[in-house]
Amino acid sequence: MEAAGTAAAGTPAETAQSAVVVGGGISGLLAARTLARAGVRTTVLEASGVWGGCVGSHVVAGLTLDSGAESFATRSSAVADLAAELGLADSIVAPNPGGAWVQLPDGPRELPRTGVLGIPANPWDPEVRRSLGLAGSLRASFDKLLPASLGTRAQATSVSALVRARMGRRVLERLVAPVVGGVHSADPDVLDIDMVAPGLRAGIKARGSLAAAVAAQRNGTQRSGDERNGGPFRRRRPPGCRRRGPPSQDCAAGCTPLSPRCSPSCAAKA
Ligand SMILES: Cc1cc2nc3c(=O)[nH]c(=O)nc-3n(C[C@H](O)[C@H](O)[C@H](O)COP(=O)(O)OP(=O)(O)OC[C@H]3O[C@@H](n4cnc5c(N)ncnc54)[C@H](O)[C@@H]3O)c2cc1C
Repeated sequence: MEAAGTAAAGTPAETAQSAVVVGGGISGLLAARTLARAGVRTTVLEASGVWGGCVGSHVVAGLTLDSGAESFATRSSAVADLAAELGLADSIVAPNPGGAWVQLPDGPRELPRTGVLGIPANPWDPEVRRSLGLAGSLRASFDKLLPASLGTRAQATSVSALVRARMGRRVLERLVAPVVGGVHSADPDVLDIDMVAPGLRAGIKARGSLAAAVAAQRNGTQRSGDERNGGPFRRRRPPGCRRRGPPSQDCAAGCTPLSPRCSPSCAAKA
């Protein structure tokens, strides 16, 4: 172990309990914080030389960039509340209005501005139409004509099965698989839809289509921002970033790559 930290609200004599947290990523640090605030003498063991785990940074071509997480879902206020508690509220910035893009074999394409896991709330939204093509949007819009039972029965439990059945292969391959792969590091074939998008299948039953279920989830939760992981995100301002760049199709993330104004994920993916 290269790094170890200890924290407690009271002294060892005052507290009867002690705890060891293995791993100094965000989970371990939050667990340790909770324990320490409860008065438990807590030791965090971290195998690497730095804290944060996947939340870290590295330097590419002289730019300091996020190497892992750079944004968070705002469906609940949990992360924003934590950032405020830690005195980081002023460091939070809104996402680039250019939205989220994905790099496909035929070039960068837009992700739905209103969607869940890349599933569009409206297959005819301009950015969705551009990413899917006419045939793809047409197939996806059949979703509204299909019986609500399709994809909501017990056998269609994977993300792939549901999306392919209701909206077709292009939605699955061009929008959903890249988002699901990026967020869950897994193939949509092996991910249970009820685990990664709870309530979606119930929404289809209640509203008659997958698009309507997605729209209902978004309407109930949306605040602002782009689409990843089923909800809008906010980014931390990268070190050295002066201001956000204008959207551009040069980069999958929707801004000018490797410019000082560029978002960290954009430069990392450029
Ligand atoms: C490229 C990338 C981009 C991402 N983007 C986002 C994003 O934008 N938004 C978002 O919400 N999430 C994002 N994520 C996911 C998010 O970063 C992770 O879910 C989260 O950081 C995981 O935190 P963790 O503490 O559970 O695990 P980790 O960050 O993996 O931390 C585990 C820690 O435990 C240490 N450890 C492991 N084994 C031992 C051991 N035996 N002894 C001691 N120490 C040990 C490791 O060194 C590590 O520091 C992204 C992930 C990646 C990889």
